[in-house]
Amino acid sequence: MARYEARPWRHLYRTAAWRHLRAAQIAAKPLCEWCLRDGVVNDGALLPGGDPQPAPKLRVLIVDHKIPHKGDHALFHDPGNLQTLCKPHHDRHKQREEIRGYSEARGLDGWPIDPAHPANRA
Ligand SMILES: [Zn+2]
Repeated sequence: MARYEARPWRHLYRTAAWRHLRAAQIAAKPLCEWCLRDGVVNDGALLPGGDPQPAPKLRVLIVDHKIPHKGDHALFHDPGNLQTLCKPHHDRHKQREEIRGYSEARGLDGWPIDPAHPANRA
């Protein structure tokens, strides 16, 4: 977690604009979207797969940026770039992104939405 604190765009998360965006996203999508794709209705209290989340502090929903914004204000503030994830799915998503350097998030047409994804660079 300390890694995230050190990032120079950390201040973006302390703005009223982000608080409003985050609240609107949770109101519109109050369940983990990745769990839902697997048929699990998870408001943060469960693990991917449907077992109870054993750690009370991890029973949270995280509003995640599908395409990593890296401080880009347009990507950061685009409601279409947001998804609601449970903590384990969020951590898995971030970890994969850091290893690969791009997001695996897909649009409704099934195509990767991150311009840095190899499918979009051909
Ligand atoms: Zn999930």
